Amino acid sequence: MTAFARRAERIQPSAIREFLALAGDPAITSFAGGYPDATLFPIDELHKIYDDLLTPGSAGALQYTASEGLPELRAQVAARLTADGMPCTADDVLITQGGQQGLDLTAKLFIDAGDVIVTERPTFLGALIAFNPCEPDYRSVPIDEEGMDMEALESVLRTTDRVKLIYTVPDYQNPTGQTMSLARRRRLVELAEEFDVVILEDTPYRELRYEGERLPTIKSLDRTGRVVHLGSFSKILAPGLRLGWALAPADVREKLSLLKLAADTQNGTLNMRAAAAYLTSFDIEAHIASMLPTYRHKRDLMLSMLEEHFPEGTSWTRAQGGLFTWVTFPKRLDIAAVQRDLLIPRAGVIVVPGAPFFAVEPESNHARMSFSGVPDDRIVSGVSAMGALLREALRA
Ligand code: PMP
Repeated sequence: MTAFARRAERIQPSAIREFLALAGDPAITSFAGGYPDATLFPIDELHKIYDDLLTPGSAGALQYTASEGLPELRAQVAARLTADGMPCTADDVLITQGGQQGLDLTAKLFIDAGDVIVTERPTFLGALIAFNPCEPDYRSVPIDEEGMDMEALESVLRTTDRVKLIYTVPDYQNPTGQTMSLARRRRLVELAEEFDVVILEDTPYRELRYEGERLPTIKSLDRTGRVVHLGSFSKILAPGLRLGWALAPADVREKLSLLKLAADTQNGTLNMRAAAAYLTSFDIEAHIASMLPTYRHKRDLMLSMLEEHFPEGTSWTRAQGGLFTWVTFPKRLDIAAVQRDLLIPRAGVIVVPGAPFFAVEPESNHARMSFSGVPDDRIVSGVSAMGALLREALRA
């Protein structure tokens, strides 16, 4: 087919799709998924809510509603954002089809072909997939235990004037689990002001905090209206509802909602009604708090197993929240090849090789490992089997 638009060249299947298909096989131990633990979904509560919504007389739940989202849900999201240090009203909030749609719409609004997006190094693969059709150029800035390196960011901003957007996941980043320190959040806002660029702050893991203090969002530090803040119900309620939000200055929010109208008219009314009913009838803060011990326990188990079994020369991050640890192997180890030749056939274990998480200059000696949704005995057997096979690969 030759008639595709130029942007189609940038729409390619993800390198990880093929083996992610294996993740559903019960014989496989998958540290690859980014899924929240399905046993934690409030299924009984939602069952009752959908039952009530689908009774005669409640046909409104099946009707169109505003493209910005159900007014009641926008107000509830605004109240939660206000409580999190971002004072706002329902009018400031756009309900999106998960956080993913916020990434797509924001790129469409700001990025012309050849504009530069700065990402963390590594960054969330799904963001690259959302940005790519807008044909950006990328620069990437290393991330460490304090988040994005601000000196490296400053030097990027000084060397090109084409930067339009800085994309960051400041809380328990995907894929590294790292969190941006308060000092760096402040510096990021300063730099964005100085160089007149927009910050896209993506926070789906913000509320999955197992230790450490809650840091202010970048949005809450912004005084000049240059932060688009994205959030999601995926990790705190259920990803299948496809509910997220964008909080942005009025002119940006209005354009984002027109782009949303073009893309999909609105989120499903039924799911918005259900989320609104959940927030009215149940205590979502208590629900979130009730999930944390499970995730914290799994994180601790995975970290102690890595300590015990992974070979020397291998390091990993210690996430204070979220779902991931990022493992760095000795430079000569290509984890995608080791996975294909050893981990899958000999141990039935999969991880996500790290290369696709780099916007530029991919490195092949990293993997993202998720501890969520993996039974404890599988974390133990999977990490120990992996450790032995990694030693074998490193000896070869
Ligand atoms: N941003 C990040 C950093 C993510 O990890 C994810 C999903 N795993 C998303 C956005 C999108 O999630 P959703 O669309 O389900 O809100």
